[in-house]
Amino acid sequence: MSSADHLDDDCIFCKIIRVEIPSFKVFEDGKTFAFMDINPIASGHSLVIPKFHSANLYETPDEWVAVTATAIRRLAVAVEKTLQPAGVSIVQANGPGAKQSVHHLQMHVIPRGIDDDLMMNWELVPGDTVSIKELVERIKANLD
Ligand code: ZN
Repeated sequence: MSSADHLDDDCIFCKIIRVEIPSFKVFEDGKTFAFMDINPIASGHSLVIPKFHSANLYETPDEWVAVTATAIRRLAVAVEKTLQPAGVSIVQANGPGAKQSVHHLQMHVIPRGIDDDLMMNWELVPGDTVSIKELVERIKANLD
């Protein structure tokens, strides 16, 4: 299963995988790529994408869903260890009703606070890139 064959020329996430667009990468392996969300809904908001272009969960082959789920666990453990939030939500959105913003399968790690009133859908608001960059290094230090 080679990833380069499965990417799309115009997709922003495929461009991040190919490093045609910069990102705050946390880790990558042969099949997945983990990075910080630049429009974070909470500090530590990060995501994993498979190195396989498909619009959503419905269109993604099981093997790619499986590697993405394994990688989201690795990222969630590191974020939890780094920030010790009161909770962590894993969010995976499909379609406009779920406010899916990029049509490439993605799973988000969202640190939670008690009664933080975060919604499952959120607007894209750019975060402070200095603090995001600082957080990447802290999360990387906690990767297993
Ligand atoms: Zn893509």
